[in-house]
Amino acid sequence: MAHHDDLTTDVLVVGAGASGLPAAIAAARAGAKVTLIEEDPVIGGAPSDYYVCLFYGAPITGVLKELEDLLKAKYSPVPGAQFFLPSGFQRAWAELLSREPNIQLITGARATDVRIEDRKGKSSVTGISVEVMPGRHFAIDSKVTIDCTGSGIVSIMAGCTAMYGRDAKADFGEPNAPEKSDDRVQAVTWMYFIQKLPGAKPLPAGRKVGVSVNTGIRPRGHLGPWPSEEAESAPDPGLYLQWGCAVRCRDTRDPVELSRAHQEAYKAMEGDHALLRENGYMIYLAPRIGVREASRILGEHVITENDITHSVFPDDTIAVADYGFDDWRPHRVSEECGNVDEFGAATARYGIPYRALIPQGVDGILVAGKCMSGTHIAQSSFRVMPIVASAGQAAGVAAALSAKYNLQPRALDPEEIRALLRTQPQHLQLSFDEA
Ligand SMILES: Cc1cc2nc3c(=O)[nH]c(=O)nc-3n(C[C@H](O)[C@H](O)[C@H](O)COP(=O)(O)OP(=O)(O)OC[C@H]3O[C@@H](n4cnc5c(N)ncnc54)[C@H](O)[C@@H]3O)c2cc1C
Repeated sequence: MAHHDDLTTDVLVVGAGASGLPAAIAAARAGAKVTLIEEDPVIGGAPSDYYVCLFYGAPITGVLKELEDLLKAKYSPVPGAQFFLPSGFQRAWAELLSREPNIQLITGARATDVRIEDRKGKSSVTGISVEVMPGRHFAIDSKVTIDCTGSGIVSIMAGCTAMYGRDAKADFGEPNAPEKSDDRVQAVTWMYFIQKLPGAKPLPAGRKVGVSVNTGIRPRGHLGPWPSEEAESAPDPGLYLQWGCAVRCRDTRDPVELSRAHQEAYKAMEGDHALLRENGYMIYLAPRIGVREASRILGEHVITENDITHSVFPDDTIAVADYGFDDWRPHRVSEECGNVDEFGAATARYGIPYRALIPQGVDGILVAGKCMSGTHIAQSSFRVMPIVASAGQAAGVAAALSAKYNLQPRALDPEEIRALLRTQPQHLQLSFDEA
């Protein structure tokens, strides 16, 4: 068996998902030697793990735009598909990574511990410990580490402050926050593909598949032309992406509670799956139930509902975001499995400040993705793939600059990060019409 010596790198990215892959590519293009580790045996993050296979939110820019172009050009099963397959995401990301000689990718490698040094009285992350199989570890030393795990686990191991659940109204002055904070997070959802085989029967008229979002068997993302209303009740043979079953998980950080959620979802889907099978559909469940929200890491700035509704665009904006509040309130979900409850508040474009990527009190680390610094309400907006990918790209550029100048990420001039991002090119204007 190959022996892994301890590694040294400029920029270490943990998590090869929606934010981590752009982070690694951007850092490499900015001149850094990059190591990208992923605990799964394959890359991709949410598309591989949860079958999140289409982009919501805007703008699709920078590295993600390159990915989307590749998906459309080479890895789309049919022209004009509304969604892509997990394997398409994996192939397209792999192709982008293969063009970057400065990136070393290690899959099947889980960050299990963080190396910390005390520098001038402040904790500074200097690398991580990686487990590649039970009991088999090696170390990766890095000038800067980017936590793109979705759970913030690297930051938490480094001693950063984590936030979990709903914030109280008084915490950040958010109009839609509850009076008291609690530990409720957005629902977990088990997505799946269904394939209607030739010769299969249409579903009985009026019989909705109850656990699917809104309208049951609605063929979201038909691989081919968008189906007509008629086709919705008797969809053509083909593959359909289902939002599946949403259930409440009491604690998305706890494997015991996640296992419970899996069991509950299996049960809730039983009737629908039987109906689908009886009528000639194949069902392909995602490898695991999708976690929208786990811990969020307290940063130099906490993005709030107010930042979003007031379209705040700070000077240190490193990513543009455009997506509404999409809260998947758990208290509504339990009875009406799959029901989405949005605030209905008008939302606007807003800027993700660089400060939301810098954890308070700990050096040598940046955080990007759904666990970056924001409230529960704000996270329900910024968690979608286009937005976290832009934030990831920015974190990559910042980490590369930090390594180059031997400066802590918090000491960088955000204007320099923005300037480099524009060359990559990442869209940084509030208006999508401007260059
Ligand atoms: C059910 C559901 C539906 C969604 N629908 C949409 C949609 O339609 N469109 C959209 O744009 N967004 C959607 N989202 C949101 C979006 O998918 C996520 O918010 C986004 O992928 C978050 O990106 P990330 O990089 O933070 O995390 P991820 O994409 O989840 O990537 C994190 C990666 O880190 C790895 N990792 C974790 N811990 C470690 C460790 N210790 N060591 C090494 N690797 C580690 C994980 O294996 C994973 O690959 C949906 C999410 C869910 C759950």
